[in-house]
Amino acid sequence: MAEKRDYYDVLGVSKDASADEIKKAYRKMAVKYHPDRNPDDKEAEEKFKEAAEAYDVLSDADKRAKYDRFGHSMGPQGFGGDAGGYSYGGGMSMEDIFANFGDIFGDMFGGGGRGHWGASGFEGATGGAPRKRVNKGTDLRITVKVSLKDIMNGVEKKLKIPRMVACEHCKGTGAKDGTAFKTCDTCHGSGYVSSVRQTMFGAQQTQHVCPTCNGEGKIISEPCTYCNGTGVTKKDEIVSFKIPAGVEDGMVLTLRGQGNAPRHGGVNGDLLIVIQEEKNSELIRDGIDLIYNLMLDFPTAALGGAAEVPTVEGRARLKIPAGTQPGKVLRLRGKGLPKMNSTVKGDLLVNVMVYIPENLTDAEKSAIESLKDQPNIVPTEATSKRIFSRLRHIFNKENRGVD
Ligand SMILES: [Zn+2]
Ligand SMILES: [Zn+2]
Repeated sequence: MAEKRDYYDVLGVSKDASADEIKKAYRKMAVKYHPDRNPDDKEAEEKFKEAAEAYDVLSDADKRAKYDRFGHSMGPQGFGGDAGGYSYGGGMSMEDIFANFGDIFGDMFGGGGRGHWGASGFEGATGGAPRKRVNKGTDLRITVKVSLKDIMNGVEKKLKIPRMVACEHCKGTGAKDGTAFKTCDTCHGSGYVSSVRQTMFGAQQTQHVCPTCNGEGKIISEPCTYCNGTGVTKKDEIVSFKIPAGVEDGMVLTLRGQGNAPRHGGVNGDLLIVIQEEKNSELIRDGIDLIYNLMLDFPTAALGGAAEVPTVEGRARLKIPAGTQPGKVLRLRGKGLPKMNSTVKGDLLVNVMVYIPENLTDAEKSAIESLKDQPNIVPTEATSKRIFSRLRHIFNKENRGVD
């Protein structure tokens, strides 16, 4: 076995690093070497595993104390008779890493860092001993831009996606003509080997990926020349899919089995579609509601009239009652966005502002000045109170929390 690197060096932290620093350092490494970002990169995978192993020890106060005292030299028999300890003969498996530290990646990789890997190694990973190992290809992740109109109605997308597909010459096996392989002698085709070790809790049986065949259960005797024995080739393929109405920015849709084919046959990875919402120049999204800021001129606000407002489906005419105050919200029911998987629809909220003229000619100035003397132009105290009480979002003593 190669010389083991110091766990603190692996994570790039000092010997007195805090638990938080260790977690941060590991998270950084895990993201950098994550298999989603480094498909088919053995070196990255090794670094990923190495970091996980270091984190497993350094994040556990007890293990860390023992490691600080004994280093790696404690060997597989563990610390001072306390057999077992933490020996990583064959390293941690990807399944172990995602099962134990999956939450670390959670928010980085769109929900459940365990994701595809957690369930990938085993066929039906539901407790008990693993049955025959099934290879799973890596996931593909693409970002798709959607407009408000797409979100309103749902949309059918057709995209050309470069992905790994099974080599047609060897049917994905990687073996010449799809036949030049034999069953692995070490694991007899199961892809797993068991080992028994003595721990402080007694004999413990663990299963590891077979080192001879890398868990594939078979050994290629003559590689396919078209794919150099990998079983996969890169191909641009057209994928069509439907984005449902009501999606939100950052949502991830999973198309099962539409990702990369694995090396040497098995189950395809998934295609993850990340929704990116295009900003609309006029409408602001607020959940299922839409907001439009309408600037009214003073005469229309005072006398009443009509205004044109944008909706997702084109312009709409809006009646403006006489005496409309700035800060008033006019509601167009059902002109918002649909709630996903529901018949509920949001509203379009028109937030009214009233334009106060900024640059006036002398004639305009005197016209406005003459208004000041009119009886209905300047608000009375009672009028102000009544209007403020209707505009609930206007600041007042109660909602600002001041005396
Ligand atoms: Zn091939
Ligand atoms: Zn084997």
